[in-house]
Amino acid sequence: MSTYDTIVIGAGHNGLICATLLAKAGQRVLVLEASDSQGGLAASREFHPGFHASVAQSFYALPANLIKDLDLAKHGFELADSCLHTIALSPDEAPIIIGDESVSGVSADDASAYQTYRRQLKTFSAALAPFWEKTMPGIGGNSLKELLTFAHMGLKLRMLGKDDMLEFLRVASLPMRDLVDEHFKSEALKAALCWDGIVGSKLAPRSPNQAVLTLLNRMAGAHAGQHSLPAGGVAAFVSALGAAAQAAGVEIRLGTAVKQVLIEGDEDGQRCRGVVLTSGETVNAAKVVSSADPKTTFLKLVGTPYLEIEFSNRIRRLRCDGFVAKLHLALKGRPQFTGVSTPDGRIILAPSMDAIEFAFDDAKYGDSSEHPVMEILIPSLHQPDLAPAGQHVLSAQVMYVPAHPEGGWTEERRQALREKLMAVLERYAPGIGELTLGMELLTPADLETQYHVSGGHWHHAEPAIDQLLMMRPTYEAAQYRTPIEGLYLCGAGAHPGGDLSGNPGRNAAREILA
Ligand SMILES: Cc1cc2nc3c(=O)[nH]c(=O)nc-3n(C[C@H](O)[C@H](O)[C@H](O)COP(=O)(O)OP(=O)(O)OC[C@H]3O[C@@H](n4cnc5c(N)ncnc54)[C@H](O)[C@@H]3O)c2cc1C
Repeated sequence: MSTYDTIVIGAGHNGLICATLLAKAGQRVLVLEASDSQGGLAASREFHPGFHASVAQSFYALPANLIKDLDLAKHGFELADSCLHTIALSPDEAPIIIGDESVSGVSADDASAYQTYRRQLKTFSAALAPFWEKTMPGIGGNSLKELLTFAHMGLKLRMLGKDDMLEFLRVASLPMRDLVDEHFKSEALKAALCWDGIVGSKLAPRSPNQAVLTLLNRMAGAHAGQHSLPAGGVAAFVSALGAAAQAAGVEIRLGTAVKQVLIEGDEDGQRCRGVVLTSGETVNAAKVVSSADPKTTFLKLVGTPYLEIEFSNRIRRLRCDGFVAKLHLALKGRPQFTGVSTPDGRIILAPSMDAIEFAFDDAKYGDSSEHPVMEILIPSLHQPDLAPAGQHVLSAQVMYVPAHPEGGWTEERRQALREKLMAVLERYAPGIGELTLGMELLTPADLETQYHVSGGHWHHAEPAIDQLLMMRPTYEAAQYRTPIEGLYLCGAGAHPGGDLSGNPGRNAAREILA
C-alpha cells in the first residue's frame, strides 16, 4: 500500500497542472486517470485509420503566464505567434474575415464599429482578468484575504473610470444579441461575434445571463480571446503538460479509474484519506483533488451517505447537460469552401443570429436542430501529421445537440443528425461528401461515456450566474475546498470554469499549498 501527499483524480489539463504545481512545491503526487491516454477532453485520438483529432480543437483562453510558470516551452509547447482569423460564412453575404483589431467584408461603418467594440471589451476583460486566477471569496467569509479580494475587485472596476464602469455594469449581463445589435449591421458578423460568448453553454443570442462574462473570461487568454493553433496543436500542449508533470516527479497511472474516495470520521467531521480503485486496490493520501466533474466527484466517488443533505441536493440540482456535439471528418483532400481561398482559419457556419436562436429552440424542446450551426477548423492544415500525406481532418463544434433526447441516441437519430450536418457542410463546401472517407460524431451522451464527464458538458457544469464565481459549483465548494476535509476540486466545474485555461487547476494547487 503506497502513501502519497496528494492524489489527483483525472489527467485532463487541469488535473495535470494542479499535480505539477503540487509536485514542484515538494509534494509526492499521484495522478489516476480512467482513460488510456492523458488530456481528458483535450486528448488526441485516432477516429479513423490514420486520422487524429481532439475534442478541444483550439486555444483562446490559455494565459501566457501559465505556460511560463510550468516551463512548457522546455517540454515542446509554445503558443502560436499569430492567431487564426475567423471566417464567417453565410449563403447570402460574401465571407467576412475577422481579426483581432480589424474586420473585412463588411461596411465601413461595421469595420469602424468593430474597432470600438474590441477596444471596449479588451478594457473590461483586463479589469476582470485577475479574478479568473484568484480564489473567489466565500459567501459570508470575513477573512482578510477574502475582504482584500472583494476590495481588489471593487478597485479594479472603479479604476475603469466612471464612464467605462457604468458601461461595464450595463453590458455585463446583456444578451449577446443586444450587445452586438448596438454596434453592427451585418447579420453574419453579429452571429460570429455572438458565438464566442455562447459556445459551450446552454445559451443563444437572446439569452440573458452570463454570455458577456464568458466572453470576457475567454478574452483573458494570451491573445485576447483570438483563437490559435501552434505547431503540434492541442496534442503538443497535452504532451508538454505530461512531460512537465513527470519532470516535477508526478506519478501518472493511466487506465486506472477511481471507484471511491475513502472517507473516515463521524458527525463532527469527515476526512478523506485516499481512494479505492475499480480494481479494488486502495491508495492512501492525505489529500485528494478531483478534476472529475462535481456530480461525478460527489454523487459517485464520495456518495451521498457522506454528504449533508442540503449539499448533496445542491449537487444533484447542478445543471450539467451539455449542448455541443463534436464532428470529425477524415477527408481525402482539402475541402473548398465557397469564397474562401484557403480554409486555414476558424470558420463559423451560422449565417445570422436568428439561425442560431432557431437552432437553440429545437434543442430546447428536446431534439437537435433541423439547421445546425457550427464552428469548423481544418487542424491538419496547421498540423499535417494528423492525417496521411495530402489528406485532411475537419473538426467541428456543433451547437445545439441535446445530451438526452427523448428516446435516447438511437442509431436512427444519429444517422439523421449526420445527414443534417453533411447537408449543411455541402452547402458551404460543395463536394465535401465526396471527399469524406470516414466520420466520427460525438454527442454529449458519447462525451459523457467516453470522456467520463457528466452530461458531456463543455464546462462540466453550466456556467450560469447561479453556478459561477463564488457559487461554482456550489457556495460550499467554491474555494476548491469541499465540505469533506482533505478533498478538493480542480477541474472545469470549479471557478472559473471550462475551456483550456488551466485556471481551475492552478488555483486549486495554490489553495492546497496555502
Ligand atoms: C465538444 C467540445 C469542444 C470543446 N472545444 C474547446 C476548444 O476548442 N478550446 C477550448 O479551450 N476548450 C474547448 N472545450 C472545453 C474544454 O475541452 C474543457 O473545458 C476542458 O478540457 C476541461 O478540462 P478539465 O481538465 O477540467 O477536465 P477534463 O478534460 O474533462 O478531464 C477530467 C479527467 O478526469 C478523468 N476522470 C473522470 N472520472 C474519473 C475517475 N473516476 N477516475 C479517474 N479519472 C477520472 C476523465 O477521464 C478526464 O480525463 C470543448 C469542450 C467540448 C465538450
